[in-house]
Amino acid sequence: MGKTLGKSSKPVSLSRRALFQGRFGASANAAVVAPIRPPWSRQETQFIDACTQCDKCLSACDEGIVIRGAGGYPEIDFQRGECTFCGDCAKVCTPGAIFFQKCDQDLPQQLPPALPSALPWSLDAKISSACLSAKAITCRVCGDRCDARAIRFQLSVGGIADPIIDQTACTGCGACVAPCPVNAVVLIHSQVAPRPHGVVEVIHSQMEELS
Ligand code: SF4
Ligand code: SF4
Ligand code: SF4
Repeated sequence: MGKTLGKSSKPVSLSRRALFQGRFGASANAAVVAPIRPPWSRQETQFIDACTQCDKCLSACDEGIVIRGAGGYPEIDFQRGECTFCGDCAKVCTPGAIFFQKCDQDLPQQLPPALPSALPWSLDAKISSACLSAKAITCRVCGDRCDARAIRFQLSVGGIADPIIDQTACTGCGACVAPCPVNAVVLIHSQVAPRPHGVVEVIHSQMEELS
């Protein structure tokens, strides 16, 4: 019988990018491993042009997930927490590198999937072979943390449940990343954009609660 791991296990600190390249294959292309900018950031080259490296988005984020990344530009670090889609980082971005404030009025008309630029981002959660289920250890930590219920568990031979992510339900919030005791979860840029309609509705309802 396999061992069971509880919620209290601490995450191990490893580089997300090195982790991705090591466990998901060195062939991963640059688009997939590109830095994750704050939600509602402009397309990468426009973002770099607009961002003045003022760091206001770092201090605006109560979750503490916006960090100063390579070259001094802000990146998201899901090892520090999850994105609540509060929009605070975008609201303080006066140069408009993050442009949520441009569609902040009359929000319900601004978020339909017909306006993909209004989506916070398009990220996919992935689980690597480091997952404890591959070692016959029962663990459901990531599923416990997923409010969107995008992670389900499928029983495999031996009675161990393997986590499976439903990308159509995943909002890309990152809540499942840090709690994983073996850093088996990463978020990467989706190669199937924009996000499915259901995800837009989830994020939309979260933002309505916060407005
Ligand atoms: S939307 Fe809110 S929680 Fe997400 S990165 Fe911006 S400030 Fe942080
Ligand atoms: S991905 Fe991490 S948190 Fe999820 S079941 Fe595997 S080891 Fe546990
Ligand atoms: S990133 Fe996706 S799978 Fe992970 S907790 Fe958020 S919604 Fe769930």
